[in-house]
Amino acid sequence: MYVCGPTVYDLPHIGHGRANLTFDVLRRYLSFIGVRVHHVANITDVDDNIIKRANELGRTEADVAAEFEATWWDSMRALGDLLPDEIPHATAYIDRMVHLVAELQAKDVAYETADGVYLEVAKVPGYGLLAQQSLESLQAGARVEANEDKRSPLDFVLWKKAKEGEPSWDSPWGPGRPGWHTECVVMSLDILGEGFDLHGGGQDLKFPHHENERAQAVADGKDFAHHWMHNGWVEVEGAKMSKSLGNFTTLPDLLARHDARAYRILVLRAHYRSPIEVTPETIVDAEKALDRLDGLARRFAVGGMLEQTPEGFVVEGDAPAIDLVEGPVADFKTHMDDDLDTAGALADIFELVSTAHSMGDAGDEGAQAMARTAAVLLAALGVSLQGESGEVDEAAAQLVAERDEARRAKDFARADALRDELVALGWTVEDTPGGTAIRR
Ligand SMILES: [Zn+2]
Repeated sequence: MYVCGPTVYDLPHIGHGRANLTFDVLRRYLSFIGVRVHHVANITDVDDNIIKRANELGRTEADVAAEFEATWWDSMRALGDLLPDEIPHATAYIDRMVHLVAELQAKDVAYETADGVYLEVAKVPGYGLLAQQSLESLQAGARVEANEDKRSPLDFVLWKKAKEGEPSWDSPWGPGRPGWHTECVVMSLDILGEGFDLHGGGQDLKFPHHENERAQAVADGKDFAHHWMHNGWVEVEGAKMSKSLGNFTTLPDLLARHDARAYRILVLRAHYRSPIEVTPETIVDAEKALDRLDGLARRFAVGGMLEQTPEGFVVEGDAPAIDLVEGPVADFKTHMDDDLDTAGALADIFELVSTAHSMGDAGDEGAQAMARTAAVLLAALGVSLQGESGEVDEAAAQLVAERDEARRAKDFARADALRDELVALGWTVEDTPGGTAIRR
């Protein structure tokens, strides 16, 4: 899969975080069901915004791009995302982009103007497929720009001729740099080959970016991506998040104030195509949900992340053989196979967590397998659990069991006394729907 990466001139915002989480979850799930994934994500390291930023800061474009790229990957690591298998940089592919533009011009679908080379979209069959609009309706809605050399306002730039002082590369049209849409079509086809499986990105990339990538491939006679996947907006206080609205929240900011896993839970709770709202309330609510999940790890000593080995998946630090309970795994796959219904899958996992607690309370030996199954399914979504229940000694476990019995018998005075004993031993005691949970 090829997922459009960032233009590195600023800090990542929470919308970038959502997009990365979405494709991280897809990748992890596909691996979980045995699909080998080759994940490519690019870095746009030449662009108008980078040039502008570099001029403002009095630094070179390469320097600015390197700094913000480092921040980008730091944030993605903090989110718990797997890094892509390959990270192509636009500046390393300029010669191949020049080659494509020249080919498109030779095929008479591209034309040169005073400021660059443009693709004539009217000559591309099926233009508007991703926008789900006809060429006529797109044309009617297009904003007419000052550039009078363009044959249609929809025509887009493949090669920009350099202005004084801009970074540039040689080409048949003089010094310049590639257009953004040209970068991704060249890198995806070069690395993954024709007819690759999936092209992804945020919903804002669907049109014109992805439409225009596809247009170049089609115009060049190439079989492009077979599937497209676009994640929804992030809304902050009811408005689509964007810099221009001033409700721009950076990802490093969010991660400094909240558990990164809570943001993943917030993202997983919605369908990937739906908008999500990030507010102090929704993130705190996700933190509470996360704590319920960690409660499972505290009680049953399950947790960690899935590791892929030649034998299959194992939970880090756990015995290699994982006895999963079949029913919940099948339900999980049914949800996930249905257009990545993470909300449904997660709701089921919360039920599984409750079941594990109830079975544990009833002394059912199957409780441990239930808890492990829940932990493994969470790990397949990239949620690692944190708990110290492995350290629960026999004395504490005995007090927990007695307290649960007292509560079932509605002997609250006895339950309170047992709570005090546990607290005196250094445990934090929580009442959960599944019974008493303790942690250091
Ligand atoms: Zn792209």
